[in-house]
Amino acid sequence: MAMPYSFTTRAVHAGRDDLNELGVHAPPIDLSTTYPARDSHTEAARIEQFASGEQPDGSPIYSRLHQPTVARFEEALAELETAESAVAFASGMAALSACVLAVSAAGKSHVIAVRPLYGGSDHLLGANLLNQEVTYCRPEAVADSIRPDTGLVVVETPANPTLAEVDLEALAQQCGSVPMLVDNTVATPVLQQPLRHGAAIVLHSATKFLGGHGDVLGGAVCCDEAFARRLRQMRVVTGGVLHPMAGYLLHRGLATLPVRVRTQAATAAELATRLTQHSEVAQVAYPGLTAGRPKQMETGGALLSFRVRRDAAAVISAVKLITPAVSLGSIDTLIQHPASLTHRVVGASDRDDCGVDDRLIRLSVGLEDVEDLWNDLDQALSGQEL
Ligand SMILES: *Cc1c(COP(=O)(O)O)cnc(C)c1O
Repeated sequence: MAMPYSFTTRAVHAGRDDLNELGVHAPPIDLSTTYPARDSHTEAARIEQFASGEQPDGSPIYSRLHQPTVARFEEALAELETAESAVAFASGMAALSACVLAVSAAGKSHVIAVRPLYGGSDHLLGANLLNQEVTYCRPEAVADSIRPDTGLVVVETPANPTLAEVDLEALAQQCGSVPMLVDNTVATPVLQQPLRHGAAIVLHSATKFLGGHGDVLGGAVCCDEAFARRLRQMRVVTGGVLHPMAGYLLHRGLATLPVRVRTQAATAAELATRLTQHSEVAQVAYPGLTAGRPKQMETGGALLSFRVRRDAAAVISAVKLITPAVSLGSIDTLIQHPASLTHRVVGASDRDDCGVDDRLIRLSVGLEDVEDLWNDLDQALSGQEL
């Protein structure tokens, strides 16, 4: 499935090149944990190859070393992110941990992080649990924060939950030769492909839009083949592998990703505009809402956040159609209070500094009809029964 085809076509067909030859229509799900082998000597050599992050043809030997169903998802996602390779993990956090471990194993244990980040990522980096050191800074201060042992610059754009945008090309210049890791969970490759804007590594919580139905946990890293080998090596050792059933579902999710994301984003844009005119809403954050056009994204995406004048918790508990829940990117609309839930692990003053205050509500817009969503939001905001 190569280039002349458009993005939507590739989303449907990527990772399926061999299906005709196999005589099947849906990708097979291989649930084996081990694979029969008669020749122990060649097997031993191939184990070495897998352990060093290569992917030799033939038997996977053991499914922590290689997983054919997951490999299809990896191939398809790499193609959509315009990456040489992709490596899938059990969750987005497992994917981020593997990146941090892979650079520290190479002697670079200092990470620069641009806030705000997803609460779990902020916690992973800040809590020093992986023995790395972190410097948090504004995008403009990245160049000055780089040290000889800096292994990664981590950024999220648009950021979760403030939807603040960072200019990736300007940041890439500041990074110099230090790899820039962009968490592309919120934009997805449909709306933004960070590798085209100077990123070396793209991270996904596949749990969100890639899966898209709120029923799979997974993560992935898209990068060049050299870094992919180091990540596979880390994955073999630490074991944060994606289950083949999850690999199948995530691969299937990619086929409808462009349709879902574009529809959800159009509804989000409409809701964002209407919310700016609501008397109970003090402020709305949505990429491109005031500036006219988001920076490097095709449209503003399916996530928005807004500051309310009343108690945010009261608004959230009053929704009827929308689900009050953490997570994002599902086919149904989810609402949550970042300061209490997803960003609780970030200290209160750091939260305030990056705009995640108590009045902020985050909405992940699904595929429901825009009028039904608006009516639900309006009644919850106004505190009146429908
Ligand atoms: C959810 C999320 C993560 C973490 O992913 P998990 O799959 O929950 O481990 C990382 N980054 C962003 C932006 C997220 O929304």
